Amino acid sequence: MLVLHYTGMETGRAALERMCDPDAKVAAHYMVEEDGQIYQLVDENKRAWHAGVASWQGLEDINSRSIGIEIVNGGHDYGMPDFPEVQIDAVITLCKDVLSRHDIFQSSIVGHSDIAPGRKDDPGEKFPWSRLCEEGVGLWPLRENALAVGSVQQLAEIGYEITAEPSRSEVYAVVKAFQQRWMQDNVTGDACLETLCRIAQVAAAYKENGKALA
Ligand SMILES: [Zn+2]
Repeated sequence: MLVLHYTGMETGRAALERMCDPDAKVAAHYMVEEDGQIYQLVDENKRAWHAGVASWQGLEDINSRSIGIEIVNGGHDYGMPDFPEVQIDAVITLCKDVLSRHDIFQSSIVGHSDIAPGRKDDPGEKFPWSRLCEEGVGLWPLRENALAVGSVQQLAEIGYEITAEPSRSEVYAVVKAFQQRWMQDNVTGDACLETLCRIAQVAAAYKENGKALA
């Protein structure tokens, strides 16, 4: 798997110091600065601590099966700045590089919020997932594609963890995580009709892409 994060700290320097501090017990394999500079912190064949308690497509212990990339951005706590163009270019180059070295399904490229809804909000609704998809990194179904109405339970077909009879707060958390990635202009946590249609579109794209859930 490939897991993308934002650092959510005031500066890249602060994030780097935290990830180099053994007591913090947190680090990703890579960090990408706002100016596009890439730091490697952990070898790709080593387990890094970036995902925490998480689940995707029924799999847990994400740290043991993923490469983690931290993207320097203040995030929700520091004004939600835009991701600079040069930084996203570097992220795309790095992701393509990682994909060339490992057998990673497109459906296994995720944001931290996808695998830990309610607990994590990164990389956030400003992260340009559609742009990454244009470059061959991850899936991005077009909105016009399907008019079917999906259901909240269908989120499991994409990979989101959802119980058989979810509580309201669980639905809110997982729907919000879905919206942060797939309908970034409408992050409400509300399973409205537009959201249910979008769930059907993404689920269809994942089904088409296939493999990972087989
Ligand atoms: Zn994260």
